[in-house]
Amino acid sequence: MTALIGHQAILRDLRALAAGADPPHAILFAGPEGTGRGLLALEYAKLLNCERAAPTAGASLFGDALPPADPASLPCNACRPCRQIEEGAHPDVITVSPGEALCRPRPGETSHARHPNSRDIRICQVRGIIDLVSRYPFEARTRMVILDPAERLGRDAAHTILKTLEEPPGHTTFALISAAPEAMLETIISRCRRIDVHTVARAEIEAGLRERGVAPDLAAEAAAASRGRPGRALAFAREPDLMATRHRLLARCETIAIATAGDRIKYAGELGERWQRDRGSVLNELDVWESFWEARLRAAAGVRGEGPAATVARMDVLGATAALRAVQRARDDLQAQVMTRAAIELMLLSFPRRTLRGPVQEDTAAHA
Ligand SMILES: [Zn+2]
Ligand SMILES: [Zn+2]
Repeated sequence: MTALIGHQAILRDLRALAAGADPPHAILFAGPEGTGRGLLALEYAKLLNCERAAPTAGASLFGDALPPADPASLPCNACRPCRQIEEGAHPDVITVSPGEALCRPRPGETSHARHPNSRDIRICQVRGIIDLVSRYPFEARTRMVILDPAERLGRDAAHTILKTLEEPPGHTTFALISAAPEAMLETIISRCRRIDVHTVARAEIEAGLRERGVAPDLAAEAAAASRGRPGRALAFAREPDLMATRHRLLARCETIAIATAGDRIKYAGELGERWQRDRGSVLNELDVWESFWEARLRAAAGVRGEGPAATVARMDVLGATAALRAVQRARDDLQAQVMTRAAIELMLLSFPRRTLRGPVQEDTAAHA
């Protein structure tokens, strides 16, 4: 079974593109982290290389001849290329991220400093990509080069790769993965077929987890915590530590939410500093904040009738709604690389004080 959960409509589109007369040679998968953008790129790589989709299906080098399959059932997920790609073991499916993958110093450059922890995809890596795509793949019909995250292509690197993106050799396709396409050069985006990858319905994620052997209770909890991102849900289901951390962070939200402005700013500083070295953990914390305010919103919205309790609840609805907007704006700003600390401070100072009375469970009980 493939790791992809949801996105069947996109998969249908990819099937049509791969089978078409002129498959795109660069696709931008744009959407939040954890939604399945990278897995969709791999599905596309499989579609381009599946032995059962081959024009010469039946001429497998590696096993018994395979008859061509019904196009709607592709990729087959059973042939050698499909399995290699699914397992991350195909020699012609290559991911380039910030770091040293494909790093290729300029000819004659005598010393090229190591950069295992660089924040950008550098021009030396682009040189490596250009060199790679000038050669035939080892065994693939179509090689796939995945740039992730594509918005980290530095300016020079982006300009250098433009021509290759526009006209790669026929045996290479690019997949660009980005949560922040607005931070990419328009000239890059315009050379790609863009596919927007949205979040997936909670029920679909829950069902996907259960199909993959996750126990029902855990599947429900992980799906809820994932906020529409199957990749996060799988991580929650497989790593108990992540779920425990989430519970701890939710408890911390309770504390921060009733803290003074000074304490909130201190916390903002802490998140801003952490953003420089661990973006994932900060984005994760914003998710937890969203869950926190959604729980408040649900509790307050459930209060009916008149009287002081109802008045407070109406204020709580407004406060939680504003807080949710503030979280969303902070996430957008961070991903668009607006000033980090300012973005986080603004979020924390936008959180209401009104709604900050004790845990949600007590609120609900008081009105039950
Ligand atoms: Zn296959
Ligand atoms: Zn380098």
